[in-house]
Amino acid sequence: MSDVLVLVDKADGGVKKSTSELLTLARRLGTPVAVWVGDGCDDAALALLGEFGATAVLVADVPVENPVAPVADALAAAVAATGAVAVLVPSTADGKETAARLALKIGSGVITDAVDVQADAGTIVATQSVFGGSTVVHSTVTTGIPVITVRGNSVAPEAAPASCEKRDLAVTLSPSSTLARITGTTVAAKGGRPELTEAAIVVSGGRGVGGAEGFGVIEALADSLGAAVGASRAATDAGWYPHQYQVGQTGKTVSPQLYIANGISGAIQHRAGMQTSKTIVVVNKDPEAPIFELADYGVVGDLFTVVPQLTNEIAKRAD
Ligand SMILES: Cc1cc2nc3c(=O)[nH]c(=O)nc-3n(C[C@H](O)[C@H](O)[C@H](O)COP(=O)(O)OP(=O)(O)OC[C@H]3O[C@@H](n4cnc5c(N)ncnc54)[C@H](O)[C@@H]3O)c2cc1C
Repeated sequence: MSDVLVLVDKADGGVKKSTSELLTLARRLGTPVAVWVGDGCDDAALALLGEFGATAVLVADVPVENPVAPVADALAAAVAATGAVAVLVPSTADGKETAARLALKIGSGVITDAVDVQADAGTIVATQSVFGGSTVVHSTVTTGIPVITVRGNSVAPEAAPASCEKRDLAVTLSPSSTLARITGTTVAAKGGRPELTEAAIVVSGGRGVGGAEGFGVIEALADSLGAAVGASRAATDAGWYPHQYQVGQTGKTVSPQLYIANGISGAIQHRAGMQTSKTIVVVNKDPEAPIFELADYGVVGDLFTVVPQLTNEIAKRAD
């Protein structure tokens, strides 16, 4: 089987869950080979990559003073070294820019924000959700090998242990890759909750929450489930919750296993950011609210009555 490259996504020195998701998808297409850019590829990382089926990790120990350009150089070198038939990259802002730069370098087509990837009679087909989520598109690239960015939580990671060997990858940085470098970083203050775009469960609040203090019930439910908190634009524009938690067309795109929408009407711009969620639960006092069209489970009621009861029930089960 041909190699399929997976760019390892890292945070705080560890491997992010998105990498195990990409390895799970890569196994459908060929033999997964991970690409690690920078230092820190230790035994724990090797074991984790092997657990999800990586047969090798190519380590490009180049200085990562710019989060994108050297990574694209490293992936291009990995494509040349392996003759890979596809490259999978996480659909983060950096990942999408990396994918675009790589595609240009190797003369290939790029597909962004895929929510699924399959091999169909030898052709690699990506599924995207477009036009605010109203249309599902199946895409292939017609030139070169597919470079595909995949949204977080598009697939549940499945272990398939393989013996993973570490190999050095020689990379010559292109002159443009060293033109920009990071001179300082400020880590965003984050609480104990998971990152919004990576969380398996997202609990969101909208205008129905009624004010900043109303988000207390949303946060309590989120914490009982180990979930991230999201918000509609109505809530963030009103200053009730920070903008970085906005879900939708002009906010974050999430695709968790479970999305709980509270006091959100379901405008097309909000749906664009959450409708690929696997299970959608809606709490809204208006039975005609459009968001019920998306709901797997719906509760017609006042969120201030329903949500605390839900939180209590979950707390009882956790005891
Ligand atoms: C270019 C553009 C981009 C946009 N981008 C985004 C985006 O990224 N994300 C986004 O969310 N929006 C976006 N919007 C705004 C979007 O059109 C809607 O205005 C917004 O999503 C509405 O937010 P909402 O559902 O919280 O509020 P509303 O539409 O006002 O709905 C509130 C809901 O809460 C319910 N409710 C009220 N009180 C309670 C209660 N006590 N208990 C239970 N239910 C209650 C009501 O029945 C209602 O259904 C965008 C708009 C434009 C034009």
